[in-house]
Amino acid sequence: MMNSDLEDKLFERFPWAEAKDPNTGEGLGYLTPCWCGDGWFQLIWNMFEEIENVYKAKGIPINVVIWEIKEKYASMQTVLCKGIPEIIDITDKYEKLSEEVCESCGDKGSIRDMFGWLTVYCDQCFKNEIE
Ligand SMILES: [Zn+2]
Repeated sequence: MMNSDLEDKLFERFPWAEAKDPNTGEGLGYLTPCWCGDGWFQLIWNMFEEIENVYKAKGIPINVVIWEIKEKYASMQTVLCKGIPEIIDITDKYEKLSEEVCESCGDKGSIRDMFGWLTVYCDQCFKNEIE
């Protein structure tokens, strides 16, 4: 799970990325859960900005609902419940970008095999983890 201070920063800047009740659609007052390391904070920030820009360019209100953002098979996956089709291109792009960003510190990384569990680390974080 991402550090809650970082989640709060994202939520403050991107209030539309609020977690929503799956049944009522009501906002829950906090950011959609980010099940990933702090190193992907900037990626998520950039992705949210791009999503906003698509809506701005179209001149329509942001209607994206993100169920969760998670690390799966060493890449960042954004699970959408709602949004316009263009958003998928953006989330796909960031899924690929995340494969080269250390999930722990945000430096340039690559996919590592941690005893059968794949994750993206830079050289230093990988070294710290396995030692
Ligand atoms: Zn690192």
